[in-house]
Amino acid sequence: MTRRFDVVVLGGGVNGLGVGALAARRGYSVLVLERADIGSGTTSASSRLIHGGLRYLQHGEFGLVRESLRERAWLTRTYPHLVRPVRFLLPIYGDRRLPAWKAGAGLGLYDLLARDRLFPRSELLSRRSIGLLRPELNTHGLRCGFAYSDGQITSPERLCVELRGELLQSHGACRTYHETVWVRREQDGWRLGVVDRITGAELEIEARVVLNAAGPWIDAVNRALGIPAPKLIGGTRGSHLVLPQRPAGPGPGSFCYAPARTDGRPFFILPWDGRVLVGTTDISVDGNPAGWSAEPWEWEYLLKETNSLFPEAGFEEHEVEYRTVGVRPLAASTLSSRSGSTGGLTRRHFLVDYGQLAHAPGMAAMVGGKLTTFGSFADECVRWIDDTLGTPADPGRHRHFPMDSPSPFALRDAPEGLAARYPPEVLDALDQMTIGEGSNRRLAPPLPYRVGEVLHAVRAEGARTVEDVMLRRLVVLPPNDMLRTAIRTVSKTHQLGLVDEGSIREET
Ligand SMILES: Cc1cc2nc3c(=O)[nH]c(=O)nc-3n(C[C@H](O)[C@H](O)[C@H](O)COP(=O)(O)OP(=O)(O)OC[C@H]3O[C@@H](n4cnc5c(N)ncnc54)[C@H](O)[C@@H]3O)c2cc1C
Repeated sequence: MTRRFDVVVLGGGVNGLGVGALAARRGYSVLVLERADIGSGTTSASSRLIHGGLRYLQHGEFGLVRESLRERAWLTRTYPHLVRPVRFLLPIYGDRRLPAWKAGAGLGLYDLLARDRLFPRSELLSRRSIGLLRPELNTHGLRCGFAYSDGQITSPERLCVELRGELLQSHGACRTYHETVWVRREQDGWRLGVVDRITGAELEIEARVVLNAAGPWIDAVNRALGIPAPKLIGGTRGSHLVLPQRPAGPGPGSFCYAPARTDGRPFFILPWDGRVLVGTTDISVDGNPAGWSAEPWEWEYLLKETNSLFPEAGFEEHEVEYRTVGVRPLAASTLSSRSGSTGGLTRRHFLVDYGQLAHAPGMAAMVGGKLTTFGSFADECVRWIDDTLGTPADPGRHRHFPMDSPSPFALRDAPEGLAARYPPEVLDALDQMTIGEGSNRRLAPPLPYRVGEVLHAVRAEGARTVEDVMLRRLVVLPPNDMLRTAIRTVSKTHQLGLVDEGSIREET
């Protein structure tokens, strides 16, 4: 039987799920089709920052910074268990390319645009006070520094799970491991042929409008479906590595943003999940899928820069615990006039209506955008859906988030353990699971995860593979073999039907 939806979204990253959830809340019937698992694309390869983009001020992108800061305020208050304010150190060295006056002026403007009581203003720090605050930091050539505020999201993967939950709550649907293999224009919309990559089942779907939200795969989706759109994505690759925390290295509160000694590019050192996340590179891949894997020099570069800031730590390559590589779905030069270095390419988002561009009315692509701005991008797309379907504008649609609203938590009072992963209602659901299912049992002692979390991941959060549970519901990185085996066992015992990601066919 063909199912008919108002809106079909191709891609279940933060942007696809964001627009899906908002459109469903607006009353549209919505289906999000994701080729793999939700959040498994660029969204999980990000630096995990909810930030205004201090660096973008340098490129004159004031509108984008203002928008991002507004979204930062909204996200921190809406998902306080996932997003929290953190304090960064921006050290100023004599031999690096960022002079103190420039950093100070940029931060002054950043504070002015933000004016958010959850994010304390920046302050100038003397060399001596930095030495006291961060004794492990390299003080050779250090002139001064700045402390400033931004946001960290511990788990964009869990944000996607929550957006999927919001979508379902508003009677929307989400199908993972479903690939769209053909699309045909019909009188009043589109007909899509879809294959379940796990079961091989085929289905046909009708949609009044289709949104291509496949991130860096947008052009590939257009090609595969025969949509004659021009090239939309001019992506850049970004890599991160994860290092252990150690006394002489960056500590639990040691958020750093510094220009790299090698080339002056800004890079981040971020405490994350008891470890240190270091990133990132920014290399044009311009549609070339072969360019999507990192080259060895990228790891050397990130390691070298970390050791340059924290020389006593002396990190070596064999200590790298985990690596991530992602492609930023930036707008191709046809959409944005910004050019120059990859760092200067715009991080703005563009809703590209295929009506004019590819003679495909009722179809559009969500190009670019950051994790931070998925909410405002979703707003823009829902306005496009309203216009396209002739729905009267909804005056009450805008999300309100007063900047002076009280803090949902004290700055230092970050949630831990289960509370850092789940919102209160899921914690209640986990608590109420029957003891009979052994749900309170540890999955793989001494690891803290519980059997009930696997049951919940499959029954309520749409996990279909062992990796979906481990990497994007429990968010265990790097993957853990003991846990993988335990999840397989729970799946067998409770007949959850999880498969291994590796067993899924690449070609449909
Ligand atoms: C290195 C790096 C660091 C970053 N750091 C930050 C940061 O700190 N803060 C920030 O705000 N932003 C950051 N970003 C940007 C941000 O991560 C992305 O812009 C954002 O996640 C894009 O989300 P998306 O949903 O558009 O794309 P994706 O997350 O890539 O989602 C697209 C989805 O489409 C699916 N798909 C592909 N083909 C098909 C198909 N045929 N049918 C259906 N689905 C399909 C994919 O499987 C994927 O899940 C960073 C990006 C990178 C690469």
